[in-house]
Amino acid sequence: MSPGPAAAPAPPGPIGSAAGPAADRIVLAQTKAELAAARSGLPGPVVLVPTMGALHQGHRALLRLAREISGPGGSVVVSIFVNPLQFGAGEDFGRYPRSLEQDLAVCGEEGAALVFAPPGDVMYPAPPQVTVDPGPVGRLLEGGSRPGFFSGVLTVVLKLFRLVAPDVAVFGQKDAQQLALVRQMTADLDLGVEVVTVPTVRDPDGLAVSSRNAYLSPAERQAALALPRALEAGAKAAADGPAAVLAAAGAVLDQAASAGPPLALDYLALVDPVTFRPAGDAHSGPALLLVAARAGTTRLIDNAPVGLGGPGRAGAGR
Ligand code: AMP
Repeated sequence: MSPGPAAAPAPPGPIGSAAGPAADRIVLAQTKAELAAARSGLPGPVVLVPTMGALHQGHRALLRLAREISGPGGSVVVSIFVNPLQFGAGEDFGRYPRSLEQDLAVCGEEGAALVFAPPGDVMYPAPPQVTVDPGPVGRLLEGGSRPGFFSGVLTVVLKLFRLVAPDVAVFGQKDAQQLALVRQMTADLDLGVEVVTVPTVRDPDGLAVSSRNAYLSPAERQAALALPRALEAGAKAAADGPAAVLAAAGAVLDQAASAGPPLALDYLALVDPVTFRPAGDAHSGPALLLVAARAGTTRLIDNAPVGLGGPGRAGAGR
């Protein structure tokens, strides 16, 4: 691999004035050359926050941690790219919310130095022939429901790591399997980027904040609240073991499946946080309770950490 982006540096483009004064300090790069020019002048450490835009409170939490890590002397870079490679046929690539001007204002408010928001043909001048194989974990759960999803995610993350050359990258626990796979790729391919995570940010009603929540009707949003409720019920049953966790969460989801509008469950799983294989009866220590479901046409995912006591737990300490 060559030591830097191939494109010749060119002056980065100014941002639109409609983004507001808070954004005036940040630079918008939309080509690889603009990014290279802007990146070369950034003081380190450089902390990258990769996003698909339509920035919300969850993204803001990532940006704040990034700013903390970069410190006043370092720099935060935000990428905004709705990555076609991670959307399957019939998924919401076309209607995914896009709001660059507002996003620039958010990035400015949160102290980012640089936003990289390339058009699709800048990232993929031609359909890529070489992509990242996410390995066995990438074929489970989200990878099972959305074939090709994690290959698309890891391919774009690898390209962003290469183009931005960050010291640190920040990802949300909301996408727990994605986070685990990014960590795996970073270790396996010696990418030399420190990956840090932020706990899931929730609205006051408990629903995990997501750009896709904008698709939900008020009734669908009520149905979607079964996701955090199921996770909470499952986590509360941790002392009684994996089967009890799944039963408690499953009962909440069963009820939501027969309500109106119904919540259509894709999967509910209690897994080892490293292998993403089911946490069996003998499992002790940290586990992840993961859920994916559809409210109307909107597919939502959520997860919660669960601490399992392992064998001999029954009756112990209760
Ligand atoms: P996205 O724009 O949906 O691709 O998300 C970009 C980053 O923000 C990913 O690392 C997500 O895990 C993270 N993220 C999205 N929603 C939340 C949330 N509610 N809380 C914390 N992080 C989030």
